[in-house]
Amino acid sequence: MYKVAILGATGSIGGNALDVIARYPGRFRATVLTAHREVAALVELCARHQPDLAVIADPALEAELSRRLAATGLHCEVASGHAALTAAAAGGLCDTVVAAIVGAAGLESTLAAARAGKRLLLANKESIVMAGPLLLEAVAVGGGVLIPVDSEHNAIFQCLPDRFRPGGRTDLRASGVHRLILTASGGPFRGRTRAELAQITPEQACKHPNWVMGRKISVDSATLMNKGLEVIEAHHLFGAAVDAIEVLVHPQSLVHSLVEYVDGSVLAQLGNPDMRTAIAHALAWPERVDAGVEPLNLAACAPLAFEPPDLATFRCLALAYQALRAGGDAPAILNAANEIAVEAFLAGTLPFLSIADVVEAVLTELPSHAVVDIQTLGERDRVAREAARRILRNAC
Ligand code: NAD
Ligand code: MG
Repeated sequence: MYKVAILGATGSIGGNALDVIARYPGRFRATVLTAHREVAALVELCARHQPDLAVIADPALEAELSRRLAATGLHCEVASGHAALTAAAAGGLCDTVVAAIVGAAGLESTLAAARAGKRLLLANKESIVMAGPLLLEAVAVGGGVLIPVDSEHNAIFQCLPDRFRPGGRTDLRASGVHRLILTASGGPFRGRTRAELAQITPEQACKHPNWVMGRKISVDSATLMNKGLEVIEAHHLFGAAVDAIEVLVHPQSLVHSLVEYVDGSVLAQLGNPDMRTAIAHALAWPERVDAGVEPLNLAACAPLAFEPPDLATFRCLALAYQALRAGGDAPAILNAANEIAVEAFLAGTLPFLSIADVVEAVLTELPSHAVVDIQTLGERDRVAREAARRILRNAC
């Protein structure tokens, strides 16, 4: 029986993970549930899944969480604050951690789970983008395993030889891998010109054609920054050279990514666009369980379409490649600037097209430094956020 901590239980990935877990009461148990500030949603999840511990990240809400749980007649431990989140990720109540917090806020708890040798099911792509080598080193030192949940990386993991482990010693080229091909839906604005994107609202940007996701990743999908972060994620997880990672737009989101081998074979993983497939694969790995996902009916979906990405309109993808080529902490700077710019866009204070401008300005202002340790990286993240906020203030 796996004891699973869901960090970010009230989110889109958290909800999908709990759906899969609830299908197999003899196999998985959700022992720890965490949320940022959504007390009512967390109490509801506790009532349904009966965890041993509920953590609310905002300490000001701990008393309210305790009161509401008691009123519901639930006996589960309660904790709050970031230290409690980290302790829960590393603690003895779980052997498996679903890292599903959004943004850099997920880094500390993801690292803690890795250091403690948990089975780390990684959805929080921002943590590997920021701290790739440090996170993989923590997995190696902790002696656990990292299984990618991001659908593209989960697909690639499924198409690689069985002996392959993210951050492990199996070399892609020695395994005959020539290229990794990440598919992208193209987001809600595929095919639009820059002029057509000038007046986009947050509601339009969050309406993804194929996937239902949190608001931040939905905006990232609309700008193609999500794919940029995923290129960086693939570089770290699979040890692939920048030039060996290609992005291919595939509007139906049925082919989740592909691996091209030197003999010309291209292996792909297909499925309906439902995150429960990747989550179930990661939860049960190396076994398989029914994820509750509709079977794929390819004949009804034909023909499948593919096209190259439009890097001139969707500049965020080009900026992510640029940051990855610059190396060091440039991806962390890119990520921090993007988080601030997306927040401003969602708040209605920054136009859609200016998200890329803010990211580019911060990357220019802060040339990359080598990554030394997590403290220095945290400081650079803070400096990049400050630079982005100043650029935003000056622009308004
Ligand atoms: P979401 O916004 O739906 O949920 C985020 C969760 O994180 C919530 O439970 C929230 O309470 C928690 N959270 C937010 N800020 C926090 C903070 N400061 N401290 C502690 N907890 C905090 O997001 P999501 O769409 O589920 O995405 C989660 C992560 O998974 C992101 O990194 C995203 O890029 C990645 N991901 C999501 C999908 C998807 O289909 N939604 C697919 C692939 C990868
Ligand atoms: Mg993805």
